[in-house]
Amino acid sequence: MRLSAPVTLVCECSTEFRSADGHIPAGWTTRHGKCWCADCTRAGIPVRQLLHGGTRQRRRAA
Ligand SMILES: [Zn+2]
Repeated sequence: MRLSAPVTLVCECSTEFRSADGHIPAGWTTRHGKCWCADCTRAGIPVRQLLHGGTRQRRRAA
């Protein structure tokens, strides 16, 4: 996901990242309008939640 406007990403663990140009920081995961910080991504939380969310895609976090 890439936007041209400033965005604030907020992970479920309340980690925040302010991006001036909409660029997603390395290690973060964004799917379906949600985002997870690098720590949560490493812990596999996005994968778990996306599977529970009904998507059949099994994509590995980049
Ligand atoms: Zn997090």
